[in-house]
Amino acid sequence: MPTPVLPIVAALLTAATAVSYLPQDPPGYRDTPRLPDGWRVHDADRPRPPVVTPPPAGEPVPAPSDAIVLFDGKSLAAFRGNGGAAKWLLQDGAMIVNGTGDIETVAEFGDCQLHVEWSAPSPTKGDSQGRGNSGVFFFGRYEIQVLDSFENPTYADGQAAALYGQKPPLLNASRKPGEWQTYDIYFRAPRFGADGAVQQPARVTVVHNGIVVQLDEALLGATAHRAVAKYDRHGDKGPIRLQDHGDPVRFRNLWVRPLQLERPAAPPAAK
Ligand code: MG
Repeated sequence: MPTPVLPIVAALLTAATAVSYLPQDPPGYRDTPRLPDGWRVHDADRPRPPVVTPPPAGEPVPAPSDAIVLFDGKSLAAFRGNGGAAKWLLQDGAMIVNGTGDIETVAEFGDCQLHVEWSAPSPTKGDSQGRGNSGVFFFGRYEIQVLDSFENPTYADGQAAALYGQKPPLLNASRKPGEWQTYDIYFRAPRFGADGAVQQPARVTVVHNGIVVQLDEALLGATAHRAVAKYDRHGDKGPIRLQDHGDPVRFRNLWVRPLQLERPAAPPAAK
């Protein structure tokens, strides 16, 4: 049987074309432990959430009457930094990460609703986890990732609005770098038993630029890098921490509403 040269050439051409269009190795890991859902921590092969175009950026969202304003564009007094006052740059109504380290609220919070506005650096610099990285940590330990995820591939559980290292957002609702973005985060603190074991995990809902991207997700524990998160017992309240990851991310208009989740009990039924 004669060698079918043409099909071989065609196959080689197809292979060459296919290879030339293969994406570069996706950022992430293939040697990390597995999460309960079967994916690895920071799994390079985990599908990236679909992109959705959010509504255009708007004016700062006013705080309700019962909110505690954490940052109004004028003062960093509600925060503290490494061993003293918060030293992030205060400029044009925003506070900007400047390499002086993480900052955290002086006040402590448990169950709460948090509104955050942030903006990734423009022009962009770096890629993957090195572009516009910051974060919002409840109890100083449960991170909702802040990242410039606009046309910036990274591992799915590390992109904007991910429960870092645990759960990617349902969608990538990112705006362009330089534009203001909003997070509205509804956080239910974990409950621990007298023995220190977690009885009810923390639960979180995240709305990114008006789009729900985490809905009542259970956290596995305190945020970890390249490891499966686990809980360590803590009190009913803790600080809200903002991350200095070395990128000049801007924040404005932060406010929080502590939540009282227990409703009044009904009176005894009449007999
Ligand atoms: Mg981060």
